[in-house]
Amino acid sequence: MIVLVLGSAGTVPSPGRACSSILLDGRILIDCGTGSLMNMVSAGVEFEKIETILLTHLHCDHVSDIVPLLWTMRMKGRRRPLRVYGPPGTKSSLMDFMALLNTPEGFIDYELLVEDLVGGVSLGGFSTCWADHTIPALAYRVSIGGKSVCVTGDTRPCERIIELARGVDLLVHDSSFTREHIDLAWKTGHSTAYQAGDVAENCGARILLLTHLYSSDLGKLVEEASRSYGGRIIISEDLLKIEL
Ligand SMILES: [Zn+2]
Ligand SMILES: [Zn+2]
Repeated sequence: MIVLVLGSAGTVPSPGRACSSILLDGRILIDCGTGSLMNMVSAGVEFEKIETILLTHLHCDHVSDIVPLLWTMRMKGRRRPLRVYGPPGTKSSLMDFMALLNTPEGFIDYELLVEDLVGGVSLGGFSTCWADHTIPALAYRVSIGGKSVCVTGDTRPCERIIELARGVDLLVHDSSFTREHIDLAWKTGHSTAYQAGDVAENCGARILLLTHLYSSDLGKLVEEASRSYGGRIIISEDLLKIEL
């Protein structure tokens, strides 16, 4: 499985960092945050190949490029159906968002199937659990070709995620803050790097990818995560490719 990071920043994009988005094997896109569409274009992503979009939650920094993406797919002549899944409210919010951006009636002429999900479901190739954030949020575990990835989205450290991610090849975990901001992390529904490492250690993940980065001290994030996790740690970078 090829994992392509399309957005690694926290809520605010910065030079070279778009907001949350990651593409699994060119087929499954998880989140579609601010600036990630431009990264897809830069990376030469084949839009027709994307089958499914999984949204962790409906905060701006995880979904703001989705309507522009749907428009781009239309303009590039998409014919295949596209499935979009997310937490409760995804279907109505997406329709509202399309209307807000004056998407003409019938403009999206490929089949768009949008479905609200809850935690604890398994569908073809992926399963969910509730994350622990400030609004309803899902974590996803996706398996392709015998490899597995768990993407937490925004979350405090969470037992349900440890269960969902047990034995994954790659855990992509919220790592918004260093330890000195642990109270802020809790208040805003995020994790520190140490906490991300702790989850990775407890679920037995083979590789930990730290993402949703606010701190510019990336070395410190890795150092803190390595205090709680003995496996391989990678810091997320836009356009980073990981082959599992
Ligand atoms: Zn976020
Ligand atoms: Zn959020």
